[in-house]
Amino acid sequence: MNGLRLEVDLDKLSDNARALVAMASERGVSVTGVTKALFGDPGFARTLVSAGAVALGDSRVENVEGLRSGGITAPIWLIRSPMPSQIDRIVRADVVSINSEVDVLSALASAARVSGQVHEVMIMVELGDLRDGVMGRDLRSVVHHVMGLSTLRLAGITANLACRSGVEPTDENMGELSAFVADVEAAFDIHVDTVSGGNSANMGWLAGSADLGRVNNLRLGEAILLGRDPLHRQPIDGLHTDAIGLVGEVIESQRKPSQPWGRSFQNAFGETVPTTGDHDGGSIWQTIVAAGRVDTDPDDLRAPAGMSVIAASSDHLIVRSDERLEPGTAVRFEVGYSALVRSMSSTFVSKRFFHSR
Ligand SMILES: *Cc1c(COP(=O)(O)O)cnc(C)c1O
Repeated sequence: MNGLRLEVDLDKLSDNARALVAMASERGVSVTGVTKALFGDPGFARTLVSAGAVALGDSRVENVEGLRSGGITAPIWLIRSPMPSQIDRIVRADVVSINSEVDVLSALASAARVSGQVHEVMIMVELGDLRDGVMGRDLRSVVHHVMGLSTLRLAGITANLACRSGVEPTDENMGELSAFVADVEAAFDIHVDTVSGGNSANMGWLAGSADLGRVNNLRLGEAILLGRDPLHRQPIDGLHTDAIGLVGEVIESQRKPSQPWGRSFQNAFGETVPTTGDHDGGSIWQTIVAAGRVDTDPDDLRAPAGMSVIAASSDHLIVRSDERLEPGTAVRFEVGYSALVRSMSSTFVSKRFFHSR
């Protein structure tokens, strides 16, 4: 096993998924388990399905194809609007796609006609976070467009907050979503089956709201993976926050001054680090772990007790430690979302999915 590795405890993730599915189902809400942060890992997908997720969600068709070739037959939602260049692959992958562009919807309909399929779509509505989604005033005409395409079926209406701007899901914006749903149902004499109100950032609203309106689904990734509410990054009661860890290896640990000395200009990343001019000869244990900005987001790691991350270069993670750590010592950091997805992306980080029970 590589010295630098991401460890993913599928049993703890199963506990988290089960707890969240139970909280949601108590309010009549189903859960779509989002696999994108673990790049569509089929083992994680199976964990989500057996924990009660009604569907899986991923942002990338490459991950969806990996899920399908990994034997996953559950419904999969493509939760990022399709790339026009990938329309054929998306229709073939047998997903429900979330959309916000009429030309893309037309292209999906044509591809479905060619392959003799009916492609299910959901329409994303913009509620204020300003990422993807049609403005509410345009929803009727977009739904009208879908209804005119015989190879598309409208499976639901969705919204997504808190991703770009951190906008909080509230009774007010979720109520707007329910009102949009009621409006298109009345206008076109249809029933919208799935109203997917948002992501992990909706859990606080779900727990506190007296009336969830028409929302009957949430798409959950981070809350399952990290056990935290993304709006405040506070732990959610009863969930594991340590299911995923980045483990690196110590390559140096020495008594050093806490501040650099000499004349200093920009470092390798264009930052300036103040110097003191003289130094005390050695006041802290400075430990270097063989990991860096190439492998993760150093600002988004939580060091174990007695240690803190103080700096990082591309390949060196500089940690202040209470004592000397022998080279070769393994150090495990808890990851935030940004550190997690960057660690998943690094080819230098091996990935170890395991069962602790
Ligand atoms: C990433 C994403 C999710 C999952 O978000 P989490 O914060 O990880 O729960 C849900 N829906 C959409 C559209 C997304 O892009």
